[in-house]
Amino acid sequence: MSDYRIKGETGEWEVVIGLEVHAQVTSNAKLFSGAATAFGAEPNTQVSLVDAAMPGMLPVPNRECIRQAVRTGMAIEAQINKYSRFDRKNYFYADLPQGYQISQLYHPIVGEGSLTIAADEKAGIPTDKAIGVERIHVEQDAGKLMHDQHPTMSYVDLNRSGVALMEIVSRPDMRSPAEAGAYVRKLRSILRYVGSCDGNMEEGSMRADVNVSVRKPGDEFGTRTETKNVNSVRFVMAVIEGEAKRQVELIESGGTVVQETRLYDPDRNETRSMRSKEDAHDYRYFPDPDLLPLILDDDFLAECRDSLPELPDAKRARYLAAGISPYNADVLTAEVEAARWFDTLLDAGAKPVAAANWVTSELFGALNRMGRDISDSPVSPEHAAELLALVADGTISGTIAKAVFEKMLESGDAAGVIVERDGLKQTSDTGAIEAEIAKILTANADKVEQYKGGKEALFGFFVGQTMKAMQGKANPQVVNELLKKALG
Ligand code: ADP
Ligand code: MG
Repeated sequence: MSDYRIKGETGEWEVVIGLEVHAQVTSNAKLFSGAATAFGAEPNTQVSLVDAAMPGMLPVPNRECIRQAVRTGMAIEAQINKYSRFDRKNYFYADLPQGYQISQLYHPIVGEGSLTIAADEKAGIPTDKAIGVERIHVEQDAGKLMHDQHPTMSYVDLNRSGVALMEIVSRPDMRSPAEAGAYVRKLRSILRYVGSCDGNMEEGSMRADVNVSVRKPGDEFGTRTETKNVNSVRFVMAVIEGEAKRQVELIESGGTVVQETRLYDPDRNETRSMRSKEDAHDYRYFPDPDLLPLILDDDFLAECRDSLPELPDAKRARYLAAGISPYNADVLTAEVEAARWFDTLLDAGAKPVAAANWVTSELFGALNRMGRDISDSPVSPEHAAELLALVADGTISGTIAKAVFEKMLESGDAAGVIVERDGLKQTSDTGAIEAEIAKILTANADKVEQYKGGKEALFGFFVGQTMKAMQGKANPQVVNELLKKALG
């Protein structure tokens, strides 16, 4: 249980959070038309007659969008409804030429499911926690109003009009900003593994409506507010923190929370009231007469299931079973591209634990420095596997491996080629090592005295000097043994 509390004048308050996440379905075409969905296109260049709501145009469901919603439902182990139906949600707004949004109210395509957020001591999440998902339904996106193009007029861009969205509705199961942040990150990760949404929050492919209420621990749920269209994990957490405080202060000063829709202003980091919350009946929902119910057959469902990749939880469990640390397993599974890269490295024969350490420190460090994503890493997993194999079989030391990796990054050459060309093989030639040790001990007679007098930390100094003299190529184990012998 989260012990996140808001401290008020009348005691401690618990925060209750439910999220409705809108995720744009990855698909070349819109939900009910063949128009394209590419981000960043010139306004009104991806609009079919259906999207512009020309009279007499009929919607035709896009099989791929339905398939992606079903696969997403399966990924959160949700009930898939073989019968679902589209409803019209009626409202007027200039970005909605139809005068209604086609959505699914009564019979959504996906029912009850759940996803698990991982324990995170530092974030105040003491144990893994399952967050319920009430439903996922499929609906159309609206167009976009542009107010900054002309001093006295607004323009409408219908490129987004009709784009397929999944609305993923959580149960009010979260109890802290950190839990909500972890939920959004985990959901995004799953969507990206499944390939049903690119999860790009900056481009608006994923945005959350944040429902927040407060109560004294043990009491009934309080009245919630809903803050619309929050488009980053950081903002989701900020909205919850600010809104929970606002509600506590309001209640404690004798007011009551009204159920309303609010807007977040990131520049001021505050929410403000937009409108009182409408109820379902305000929208005059009714089944869309232009669309037949969706009936999913077993072959379709089987294909959806078979096409699912290994998901983050399963992958993480597999990494842990291979001895990889929980921290590394988290880091390696969070982003699907990194996980795929790492799996290719394992397939190429790398040992899991050493490979995980190397990827999370050396590779990620280098990519960070270069400002690159793992998908355009200059070193391939196959080349990395070769480098790690050279360390594992003692051909080169860990220190030399770092230098070889730098050269791989610069030249794109294979590790073996570099080691051969630059003469970097590790040596266990005891004669050569002993000769260097003798020189070092003579040159540092004072330190030898101190060491023998009990200052054992100096051993590391002698190791370092020997390695340096051997240009890093001496086998460290042999160096250790020979030094111990020489120092008595
Ligand atoms: P509506 O249909 O009006 O949007 P729902 O019952 O579908 O309302 O709930 C919408 C979202 O609000 C869900 O994510 C749900 O978890 C959340 N929610 C419901 N009650 C509360 C509450 N008291 N506090 C916080 N969130 C809530
Ligand atoms: Mg809702």
